[in-house]
Amino acid sequence: ARKAALAGSSGPGATSDGHKVPLLANVGGPGDVPAAVEAGAEGVGLFRTEFLFLDDSAKAPSEEKQIASYRAVLEAFPEGRVVVRVLDAGADKPLDFLTPADEPNPALGVRGLRSLLEHPDVLRTQLTALAKAAEGLPVHLEVMAPMVADRIDAKAFADACREAGLQAKFGAMVEIPSAALRARSILQEVEFLSLGTNDLAQYAFAADRQVGAVSRLQDPWQPALLDLIAMSAEAASAEGKSCGVCGEAASDPLLACVLTGLGITSLSMGAASIPYVRATLAKYTLAQCERAAVAARAADTAEEARVAAQAVLSGE
Ligand code: PEP
Ligand code: MG
Repeated sequence: ARKAALAGSSGPGATSDGHKVPLLANVGGPGDVPAAVEAGAEGVGLFRTEFLFLDDSAKAPSEEKQIASYRAVLEAFPEGRVVVRVLDAGADKPLDFLTPADEPNPALGVRGLRSLLEHPDVLRTQLTALAKAAEGLPVHLEVMAPMVADRIDAKAFADACREAGLQAKFGAMVEIPSAALRARSILQEVEFLSLGTNDLAQYAFAADRQVGAVSRLQDPWQPALLDLIAMSAEAASAEGKSCGVCGEAASDPLLACVLTGLGITSLSMGAASIPYVRATLAKYTLAQCERAAVAARAADTAEEARVAAQAVLSGE
């Protein structure tokens, strides 16, 4: 059954009527690249760069060390897109030299882009290392910031990218509900959006992603989360820009169809999920995905949303 589910699973991601949805891989370092290439990823939609900083949490890695790691990933996708996320320290990813030790609520404190704006030298080194790593490569480099809350954050990040001389698209992750609500304003400063649905659910539902007891609220099928995703996708479409998903939501094949129906333009996930998402997406038309999205948003609970989307797609 596993094999049957994957029959015909190769090539670019698309619906049965040819609406393209690039399927990208989430990677946590050069070690994840072979599996991504093997799965036929069309590029990298989320390159988490925290791994570089974990060896020695007392100081940032040298520019040389960063260049070598970035280049190893960029070289693997010569003609593809590689979306690099700048360091996302704090909360569930603490780093001694960046993360304040005395925060009562680290998830609501100085984390992600906020800590980089407090340590502009760390951001500058990372952006310069990326610019040097991409030199002479045909790759489409895109760089995005985690935990963007508003237009001021987005502008600060875009300014830092321009100052570093980066020849790349600059984007903002949508992980905070304020960013989804005012996505159009953020898009005045950046060229693309990428939804981090793990954090977006955490902040929308006031449900810590590390606390199992509230996992019901972390379900990516929650209709309120689907509404925030839809708002972001609509804003990007109105601005003629792209809006991907790189959180766990993208790895659920049925939900991937719903995200496509909501107007999401690319899906990034762990490499192992790519063949399943590709095979499922290829079974339905864009119009079916759109109807499934409408049905899911009309539901009141995550479970009802899942059942409603499934019913539409299986033609019940
Ligand atoms: C997310 O929050 O959904 C995301 C992709 O980033 P991370 O899981 O690394 O916080
Ligand atoms: Mg996140």
